[in-house]
Amino acid sequence: MVDLKGQYLKINDEINEAIQTVLDSTIFINGPQVKSFAANLQSYLNVKHVIPCANGTDALQVAFMALDLRPGDEVIVPCFTYVATAEVIALLGLKPVLVDVDPNTFQIDIAAFEAAITDKTKAVVPVHLFGQCADMESILPIAKKHSIFVVEDTAQAIGAKYTFDNGQAHSAGCMGDFGTTSFFPSKNLGCYGDGGAIFTNNDDLASKARMICNHGQKKKYHHSVVGVNSRLDTIQAAILDVKLKYLDTYSAARQQVAARYDEAFGNHEAFEIPQRDPKSSHVFHQYTLKINGLDRDALKEHLANNGVLSMVYYPVPLNEQEAYKGVGKFPVTYDLCSRVLSLPMSTELTENQIHTIIETTLKFR
Ligand SMILES: *Cc1c(COP(=O)(O)O)cnc(C)c1O
Repeated sequence: MVDLKGQYLKINDEINEAIQTVLDSTIFINGPQVKSFAANLQSYLNVKHVIPCANGTDALQVAFMALDLRPGDEVIVPCFTYVATAEVIALLGLKPVLVDVDPNTFQIDIAAFEAAITDKTKAVVPVHLFGQCADMESILPIAKKHSIFVVEDTAQAIGAKYTFDNGQAHSAGCMGDFGTTSFFPSKNLGCYGDGGAIFTNNDDLASKARMICNHGQKKKYHHSVVGVNSRLDTIQAAILDVKLKYLDTYSAARQQVAARYDEAFGNHEAFEIPQRDPKSSHVFHQYTLKINGLDRDALKEHLANNGVLSMVYYPVPLNEQEAYKGVGKFPVTYDLCSRVLSLPMSTELTENQIHTIIETTLKFR
């Protein structure tokens, strides 16, 4: 599905040198590269604070801890997403309240979100799924009206931009109270292990999140709040600092692949191409088709038999997961789980490979 080797080989000199510098310094934790990467990402995103941490799941956890949510507080989450989003909510004793998604953009459904708000609702998590922003123009005023926090799960959409009706553009993850992201190797900005970060424009929340990531201490051995140990290690930061320079090039490469897929499948009744929200750019963490009238799983098998990988993100609605059984009706999520198929998407796909993927897909009957 992704070609990490090909991507590495294009920048291996720079990466190897960056890693070697860390090895020579032996400052494996909190080395200067961590600060440098955070500062560069801060200016890339145009956000006030970037707090690096150990992974995208921790980023979500620390964000919720910093918001002082209490056991029993409700957090609204889309039903069609990766499990991590609901996992940390449950782990902290908060109550994940699942809501359905929009059938076209796959993002949290605004009417469902608003209908799910109760006196106990303390936060909403728009997951910018597959590389496109959720409908922030609608989400932010609703959240404000009900005094609920907005935590943007940006694990799949780093580098995407959202333009509001007033013309103001913001980076994904930098519009709510917190944004969180993951640098898992296959994400759009991936390191060579685990990594994550938290974004915020709020000084108080930033200092709180920073403290929580560091055992709840501001001063060494003085612990004012219960924290965790969640750090981005120096080698990963050094790698990310190199790769950040290429993020826009990587996004453009993904967009080019998406354009080829659009062209191939756009006028074909068996396929619905991913719908774009005109307010958001799409950085295509995944290129996800909806399959009409064909057996999606048989198509997946046909592709595999012909050497083309594809994936179903996500086959099971969150409310069907043993650990997160939810009540409510999620017709769109169920429909998507039965019909979506993500095609290979990477920065390194060759014209030949794209051609094979398209032809093999179209040959299926
Ligand atoms: C990958 C991902 C995460 C978790 O990131 P990790 O770094 O693997 O912990 C959270 N949310 C979404 C939507 C993701 O895609």
